[in-house]
Amino acid sequence: MFYLERLPCPVLVTDCNGQIKHSNHDFKRLAGVLLVDSMDHYFPPASRIFLHTHAWPLLLRNGEFNELHLQLLATDQQHIPVMANARMSEVDGEREVIWLFFVAKDRQRFEAELLKAREQAQENAAQLAKANLALQSAYAQLAEYAVEIKSEAEQFAQLSHTDPLTALGNRRALSLHVEQWTATVSAQAHASLLLIDIDYFKQINDRFGHAEGDRVLIELAQQLLKSVRSQDSVVRYGGEEFALWLPFADGDEAAVIARRVHEQVSLLQIADQRLTVSIGIANLVPQGQDPERYLEQLLEEADTALYAAKAQGRNRSVRHDRC
Ligand code: GH3
Ligand code: MG
Ligand code: MG
Repeated sequence: MFYLERLPCPVLVTDCNGQIKHSNHDFKRLAGVLLVDSMDHYFPPASRIFLHTHAWPLLLRNGEFNELHLQLLATDQQHIPVMANARMSEVDGEREVIWLFFVAKDRQRFEAELLKAREQAQENAAQLAKANLALQSAYAQLAEYAVEIKSEAEQFAQLSHTDPLTALGNRRALSLHVEQWTATVSAQAHASLLLIDIDYFKQINDRFGHAEGDRVLIELAQQLLKSVRSQDSVVRYGGEEFALWLPFADGDEAAVIARRVHEQVSLLQIADQRLTVSIGIANLVPQGQDPERYLEQLLEEADTALYAAKAQGRNRSVRHDRC
């Protein structure tokens, strides 16, 4: 019967004749109950009459009753108002009644505590909702940051492949183009590379200043873009050197494009000085080499051809296979 001690009020367990079987400490403290006694002894006459005329018939009819006003007789003979609740149940084939008595003043205290607990719960719920909102906004901010970081990363990646002066691709972009191309074509496919170097560019800088030299580089970049096919790539390879990557172009096709470059460049004039370039042309079949090695070889051959073009007097193209 240890559970009786857990109930927060005086409790009795009786048989169906009102003989006490158990009671908890709260009840004993209040009424000084003896076991194996009639519960009637613990009620003053008026409550005893009410018990027999009203409470018991109600209990026997419904198996329970709730919140009946009674008075208990305390050890000091004081009458203590209580709210009585009773319920009949069957334990080991025997019927018994459990009686709970809420002492009115204790009940007020319970209610006050309940009210306080409810207010606390409401406050907790409000705080929880606030915290939840803050969390949601933090998540939203985090998602925003993630988008920003991604786009910054994309911008960085883009910048790392772009020449800031001309907005053309740079060496890294050239490596990427070659890598992507070799990954998708057969080992027998042709590709060509043109290395283009401005003739006497130092003189342009010296005569017209570095800023004017920069403007020439930008204009030349535009002319190169006009000279190539849609599948080709133009990159700024170094200071005043550019490279054209011409996938699937054999030596003859590359030579045609080189001629177009000379034509386009001849349209550029700085004061009385006509701009010219020298071009080295390389054409190679990848033959299953790794892309880095393939590009290296193309560059080497194009560079040798470019050197020959310079040596032969500039303003011309030289194919590696002819130098
Ligand atoms: P060559 O016909 O032998 O190529 O003669 P060159 O004068 O063009 O050759 P050189 O390599 O001696 O000079 C290249 C010049 O390009 C030197 C350098 O100051 C200039 N240069 C490199 N990068 C830039 C740049 O970004 N802007 C400008 N304005 N000049 C640059
Ligand atoms: Mg140079
Ligand atoms: Mg030069």
